[in-house]
Amino acid sequence: MSLTPPPLRSGSVAARDFTHGGPFGSGPKRQTWGGSAAAPPKPPSKANGRMRTCIGCGERQNVGRQASDLLRLVVAEGQLVFDLAGGAFGRGVHVHARPDCLLRAPRKLMRAFDRNSDNQREDVGAANLGALLVAACSRRMAGLLIAARRLDAVAIGSDAALSVLGRPLGASEATKAAPLAIVAIDAASVARSVEVMRAASQGRVLAWSNRNELGALLGEVAVAICVVRHESIAAELKKMSAAADAGVAAMEDSAAGSRRPEAR
Ligand SMILES: [Zn+2]
Repeated sequence: MSLTPPPLRSGSVAARDFTHGGPFGSGPKRQTWGGSAAAPPKPPSKANGRMRTCIGCGERQNVGRQASDLLRLVVAEGQLVFDLAGGAFGRGVHVHARPDCLLRAPRKLMRAFDRNSDNQREDVGAANLGALLVAACSRRMAGLLIAARRLDAVAIGSDAALSVLGRPLGASEATKAAPLAIVAIDAASVARSVEVMRAASQGRVLAWSNRNELGALLGEVAVAICVVRHESIAAELKKMSAAADAGVAAMEDSAAGSRRPEAR
């Protein structure tokens, strides 16, 4: 699968749902979320005390919490990668999916990884880190969509998707289990539909990818919209979209050459 990172500024996600699973750097090896991974995300871990420090701002946060937006970075085979599925081996550091933290991270990243790798000196400028994050989020979102499809938890195409979106929400759905729509960036007409506008006002729409790439992920020629009905996959998709937005913002801020104070 070779998805180019689509424009990912969805601007719609306020979700802080978090289904990061797995212990930090230990435990049984699990399949990671590549383009072909099939398992749904793990439910939130009950484990407490998994406090990790953001290398950007220094804040400590429990990565087992749903509200956590800490992302794990590891060096794998000499490459700096975001371990968004939480299954990668290796020593990792954490950074918030926030533009400020992504912008501040590179210098400390160099220090953290230099202690552990004697030869690899990654170029981890802020723009690069943002781009890495956007690409990683895009790959993970693709894997999540494929997983949802295998679980038969996706309504594909306008008719099916708008039908799902048009139904009144049940009591549980009104809170968090509501279906999540993914609308291709180049699907303007469906994006203007009443059902999508209403769902967007409820924070249940992500604008992502394009019709051809969505189609490729979902086994169709082109797909303008799909609706994910799997709660934890939907939550993870929102999280990835929000993280990608932070990555885009970090790239833009870095390109603008903004000089931020080291601490506030
Ligand atoms: Zn931070």
